[in-house]
Amino acid sequence: MAERQFNFSAGPGVLPESVLTEIASELPVYKDIGTSILEISHRSAPYTELVESAKSSLRQLLGMEDDWHILFLQGGASLQFYQVPLNFLPKDGSADYIVTGSWAKKAHKEALFVGDARVAASSEADSFSHIPDRATWNLNPDAAYLHYTSNNTIFGTQFKDVPDVSVPLVCDASSDFLSKPIRMDGFGLIYAGAQKNMGPAGVTIVIIRDDLVSRSGVRKASLPTMLSYAVHAENKSLYNTPAVFAIYAVGLVMKWLSAQGGLSVMGKRNERKAGKLYAEIDRTGFYRGTARKEDRSLMNVTFRLSSEALEKLLIKEATAAGLDGLEGHRAVGGLRASLYNAFPEEGVDELVAFMKEFERRNG
Ligand code: PMP
Repeated sequence: MAERQFNFSAGPGVLPESVLTEIASELPVYKDIGTSILEISHRSAPYTELVESAKSSLRQLLGMEDDWHILFLQGGASLQFYQVPLNFLPKDGSADYIVTGSWAKKAHKEALFVGDARVAASSEADSFSHIPDRATWNLNPDAAYLHYTSNNTIFGTQFKDVPDVSVPLVCDASSDFLSKPIRMDGFGLIYAGAQKNMGPAGVTIVIIRDDLVSRSGVRKASLPTMLSYAVHAENKSLYNTPAVFAIYAVGLVMKWLSAQGGLSVMGKRNERKAGKLYAEIDRTGFYRGTARKEDRSLMNVTFRLSSEALEKLLIKEATAAGLDGLEGHRAVGGLRASLYNAFPEEGVDELVAFMKEFERRNG
């Protein structure tokens, strides 16, 4: 088999190698059922077992009480941009949005298709290089919810703490879910596409507090069945066919996370990995981090060189050296190293050594 590269891709991103091996070993026959996971019914006992086990691992990892529902939906985080307001934004009310990057901006834009969505704070004027200071937020105490994006995959910024507000929090945690412990009080709903920290593309994890489920469907008459959280949370029988294979893989990643020691171990590991890379970026000034230091993301490390030509050269040489996926998002350019949970620390060490050598030759 060809050797695996260190995969710095922003997503779909790196998965634990042991999970990939386990998946391979369970194809073409899953356990003793005589067929593969790709071919079984979503109403079969093996599927029910694996989905319940994935949910229970997730509950344990997050320390979630029973008043939370876990949904495995489709349509990506992008559909959640629309589904959230469709379920929770009342005709005579409004919701607040903290706009800290392109994804947060898209979430706000979709909410405007539904109703009144206010921008309570934005860092767009500063090219999304920071998280707006809490003192500048213009919050509506009567908002149906406050939506924020915990980690900005493109611009490399991250909320360090859960915002302390009086309305239910709705969080797009697509690019840092399960990367560190999280305090659950205050949240009404958290959603995340699986393809960064949790599994392959194709499933979106939505966790939703019980009282929000009953509040969902504020526009009941016009709420399409497939887009109602209550339909997915309360139906004893699955409403439609879920992404069976992706959910199976997510379950294996959850087990892997537990075996690593859970979210506090992941949090420390992620701090150490990102810390090493930021230390190299700050070492001489040859590299320049793009995010304000206190808001730097532990998941997506964004930086630049003095010219685009030099950036292109670094990407080309890094790829040849087995360090893949370092180009920044096409909207902003530059460089981006995504260091999701499954990204190994040796890969960071190799990148740092490569960057030192690149500077020696080109500095
Ligand atoms: N939110 C964030 C923070 C993201 O990084 C992304 C994808 N990169 C999305 C939303 C969109 O997710 P999806 O492609 O699953 O719709």
